[in-house]
Amino acid sequence: MDISTREMLDIDAARELLVAAVTPPAGPPETVAITAAHGRVTANAVIAPMNVPPFTASAMDGYAVASGDDVFGHDPPFVVAVNGVSRAGHPMQQALAPNRAARVFTGAPMPARSDSVVLQENVTASDGRIRFDERPRPGRWVRPAGHDVHEGASLIAMGRRLNAFDLAALASAGIAEVAVWPRLRVAVFSTGDELASPHTTLAPGQIFESNRLVIAQLLAPLPITVTDLGILPDDESAIASMFAQAVRGHDAIITSGGVSVGDADFVRSAWTRVGSLDFWRLALRPGKPLAYGRAGHCHFFGLPGNPVSTVVTLLLVVRPMLEALAGSTPTPLVRIDAVATVPIDHEPGRAEYQRGRLDQTNRGLEVRPTGDQSSNRIASFSDANCLIELDKENPGVLAGARVQVLPFKGLLS
Ligand code: AMP
Ligand code: MG
Repeated sequence: MDISTREMLDIDAARELLVAAVTPPAGPPETVAITAAHGRVTANAVIAPMNVPPFTASAMDGYAVASGDDVFGHDPPFVVAVNGVSRAGHPMQQALAPNRAARVFTGAPMPARSDSVVLQENVTASDGRIRFDERPRPGRWVRPAGHDVHEGASLIAMGRRLNAFDLAALASAGIAEVAVWPRLRVAVFSTGDELASPHTTLAPGQIFESNRLVIAQLLAPLPITVTDLGILPDDESAIASMFAQAVRGHDAIITSGGVSVGDADFVRSAWTRVGSLDFWRLALRPGKPLAYGRAGHCHFFGLPGNPVSTVVTLLLVVRPMLEALAGSTPTPLVRIDAVATVPIDHEPGRAEYQRGRLDQTNRGLEVRPTGDQSSNRIASFSDANCLIELDKENPGVLAGARVQVLPFKGLLS
């Protein structure tokens, strides 16, 4: 299937097409400190430059011994003189003497020649000697060098959006800086004569505008710098001149409103003055119209204006493409099964994504839609923590039926 298809596309097909249309990020990579790298995307694979931990260490407080020493060549109990100490940060200088034990603490380097730790709670210590019954086994309570990661092993893959654990892994291997792709530059504007900013007063027939804000917030976890270009009137030349400015200096432009086929829908015609256009009818409710286009390196997404349609299209279709554009692997959709606690109506024809409330109860995972699902109702999100997916053939479900849900956790992080 070609990207300029006129078919009704389901979201999995649309996601595949968009992600396949992505070329790798325009370099060059930037080097950033790991303290500033959270959420950035690695431009190279990172190989561990050293063993972590760098030396063989005791995993517990106790006594290091050499399990092959003659002193263990008979049946227990064992009595061994203690000679030397190794503390975390203060290794014992000399090797363990034959038939001796050394005091060791968690994280302390194992003295040379020792290979096992006897736990302090299993010994009786007196007069510089320890007495215990359990035969020391080689490697017991010992963390070998490279136990966490071996030198030369892969530490972080290329194209990974760095999370707290990745940064900890880099820090533990002594890597203080990492090469990442530049942040994507994304411009956002809303269109509609009826729209006003929340810090102004409403003229008759106007509504307060919310889409620029929700788009910017939903993109915040991604390595994206959003430029807010404000609200534009339903005026083709005004929209076209904004496009002409915005394609310079942005990797993507996201607009809301004005992409259906109404008289006041000028976004698509305005875009064709600056770039190529593929208009899609997504087999998706809410959110059927989606315009996608290209002008040089700049990608254009024209989202529908109804706030719920804007969000659903952004999360399910646009976001994965932006993740790919940013150099990372798009987060796969996670679908889980839950039992509907109320009947859910659905008209077959298009897949529908209702806002749902998913709860873990003693009967298992249960879900219900959050009230009226009209695509203008931002309130349908307020109690929601998932989307309920009703595929295009689904004739609606009865209470007690299983449905698939997409938890917000997987869609928003
Ligand atoms: P449109 O996609 O322009 O046909 O708009 C569809 C519906 O969404 C209309 O009721 C608009 O008033 C409303 N709408 C459009 N843009 C926004 C916006 N940015 N914030 C809130 N509602 C909007
Ligand atoms: Mg409009």
